[in-house]
Amino acid sequence: MAESNTPKKVLIIEDERSISDIIKFNLVKEGYAVETAYDGIEGLDKALSCGCDLILLDIMLPLMDGFEVCKKVREKSSVPILMLTAKEEEVDKVLGLELGADDYITKPFGMRELIARIKANIRRADSLTEKSEAQPDVKVFGNLEIDMNRFEVRKNGERLELTLREFELLRYLAEREERVFSREQLLEEVWGYEYYGDIRTVDVTVRRLREKLEDDPGDPQYIMTRRGIGYYFRRPQ
Ligand code: CA
Repeated sequence: MAESNTPKKVLIIEDERSISDIIKFNLVKEGYAVETAYDGIEGLDKALSCGCDLILLDIMLPLMDGFEVCKKVREKSSVPILMLTAKEEEVDKVLGLELGADDYITKPFGMRELIARIKANIRRADSLTEKSEAQPDVKVFGNLEIDMNRFEVRKNGERLELTLREFELLRYLAEREERVFSREQLLEEVWGYEYYGDIRTVDVTVRRLREKLEDDPGDPQYIMTRRGIGYYFRRPQ
């Protein structure tokens, strides 16, 4: 893929100036354009208007917290969202992913790791845009149609709104029908790049997928659990 000449733009929504400043300094040094916001309302406003390629989103923010910002951005935009969570806020990661964040990084983090994550998430989003212009490659599984090339899923003809991660997990499993994968395998294969995440990320994404895919998420027909091992995709009977 040819690198575009236009610098990628990152929006930093973080109320702690010292953190925001150092991230900005490092991103600018790496050639990114940077916008900043210091509270949730300003952040949401900029998120919806700045045409950014990625949003770095802190959770504890004045006026509107990061979860609310994430939820509201997701109603209108699929821009990659990387959440900044504090070490003691384990539960936050999971909630952030539930609300549609793409990734999270735990404070305190190293700049090198942060920049690697930002790069990886922007690259993934770019490949999604390219894919949406690709030729369709539709596979049919019962009343589910998955366009493997264009990141589109329809159920009974109705388009489902999946996040990039959800789609990638679904595609990975559907392309390998009936094969059971452990959470660790899925984390490595679907999330890829030296992912430091924990395996609950997989469970959360499976749960979100089931809520969108299944008639009864409690009695799934597509994404199945093999108790004690992991998950697999089954063509509905
Ligand atoms: Ca904060």
